[in-house]
Amino acid sequence: MRLRSRIDTCWLVGFVGLLVSTTLFALPLSVLIPGAGPARGDTCPPDRFDVVVIDAGHGGEDEGARGPGGSLEKEVVLGISKQLAAALRKRDLQVVMTRTDDSFVSLEQRTHIANDARADLFISIHTNAARNAKIHGVETFFMSLSATDDAAARVAERENESFGTAAAIGVAAKDPLVGILGDLIATEHLHESQEFARMAQAYLASLTAMESRGVKQAPFVVLAGVQMPASLVEIGFITHSGDEKSLRSKKGRRAIVVALEKAVAEFQRRYDARHDGRVVPAQPRR
Ligand SMILES: [Zn+2]
Repeated sequence: MRLRSRIDTCWLVGFVGLLVSTTLFALPLSVLIPGAGPARGDTCPPDRFDVVVIDAGHGGEDEGARGPGGSLEKEVVLGISKQLAAALRKRDLQVVMTRTDDSFVSLEQRTHIANDARADLFISIHTNAARNAKIHGVETFFMSLSATDDAAARVAERENESFGTAAAIGVAAKDPLVGILGDLIATEHLHESQEFARMAQAYLASLTAMESRGVKQAPFVVLAGVQMPASLVEIGFITHSGDEKSLRSKKGRRAIVVALEKAVAEFQRRYDARHDGRVVPAQPRR
């Protein structure tokens, strides 16, 4: 995004050009330097998709979920987040990570990092967990104050615990304005958040060996405060031995990274087309 700074820069260049051409030289700058100066009809380039925030869930004393083979969610998601960041940087995208090591990052810090980066997309990466060790598969969420179903609500409850009861309650209830603001922000970016969630889920379903559990909505506090399209991806059930094995394997991790990379590239293509004023073809419903 960084639209504000781009507008500021455009305005500044135009203003300086005008000042120089009218006061110092008393000649149009375009006469002195062909192509320079704020000629009539000049417009700033359209906003481009260029900044992605990758939020590796948990960290530090917050281990997240643990698999039967001993895998820790905080380690699995950090490894995959780093791989995804490297893949996106190769595509000339700027990537900001909310954590790059095994440290605890608060909800406020995560939100601040994302909003400060004025990113175009926020991807929170987690592994799922269930008491029933037979449950497996990938699912992608976008923000809503009401959950799609009880299972989705439980996922959000578990992930929100990471930020402590106080933080979760603070967002949802203690400060109702924050809750309302979160809902408004989520609503503003609802369409794009849903669009990315669908793409991520579709690529994860087709490129990994994991079962697709679909796109869902739930009240994740980490998605509530970010001022950009945002999704939370549960890249498999760490509590399922098959999913855990896949999440530990080089091949399984690579497939997840490629799937998310393709989803970001597809989202970027559509974002830039929209901002260029080009017609964006209808997205297949998955
Ligand atoms: Zn998690």
